[in-house]
Amino acid sequence: MPTSYEDVGIDLGVTHFAALSNGEFIDHPRYLRQAEKKLAFAQQALSRKKRGSHRRKKAVQHVASCHRKIANQRKDFQQKASRKLVNQYQVIVLEDLQVKNLTKAPAPKQDENGKYVANGAAAKAGLNKSILDAGWSTFTGLVSVKAAWAGRTVIFVDPSKTSQSCPNCGMVRKKTLDERWHSCPCGCELDRDTASAKVILDLGRKQLSVGTRPTSATA
Ligand SMILES: [Zn+2]
Repeated sequence: MPTSYEDVGIDLGVTHFAALSNGEFIDHPRYLRQAEKKLAFAQQALSRKKRGSHRRKKAVQHVASCHRKIANQRKDFQQKASRKLVNQYQVIVLEDLQVKNLTKAPAPKQDENGKYVANGAAAKAGLNKSILDAGWSTFTGLVSVKAAWAGRTVIFVDPSKTSQSCPNCGMVRKKTLDERWHSCPCGCELDRDTASAKVILDLGRKQLSVGTRPTSATA
């Protein structure tokens, strides 16, 4: 593949499937959302069917076919999205996701009287489900394989603090999950995920310049 002179940092997320450091977004496809709604509907219908009945057997088949369709559509979307990135960019910087760590339930929290208090576990569980559904690790794996064939470089960087640092001045400020906008005293105003993608690109460039060998994914 001809050399590209464009590099990109990518923030994989829940709001957008991916935010790129140049301000572009790759969104979760609408048809996938619709197929997921259909699946939920089919599962509901199944739950109302009598055990051992012919209708139940039919409903089971319908649920299975919805699952298959979603799996195929997701695969197709990820193949195309990863192909586009690899065609366009020479250096692709991704977060080292360690999805497993994210999916661990947070430890129960107790107050000074030993009473259990909310630790955000429920909110986190919702987010974790989306993380798994988005299939990020499959996606980074696809990008890595295609990049290797095309002679592109993929770099994985430490994802901690990428969503909290300012890409312009480097200041670290904690954002809550529902804070969608990056606004820094230095004057930097960006979509939260775009800001994060820019930080990711910077980290990747630093890693390249100190000569750390690019990691290749084994996802
Ligand atoms: Zn700043």
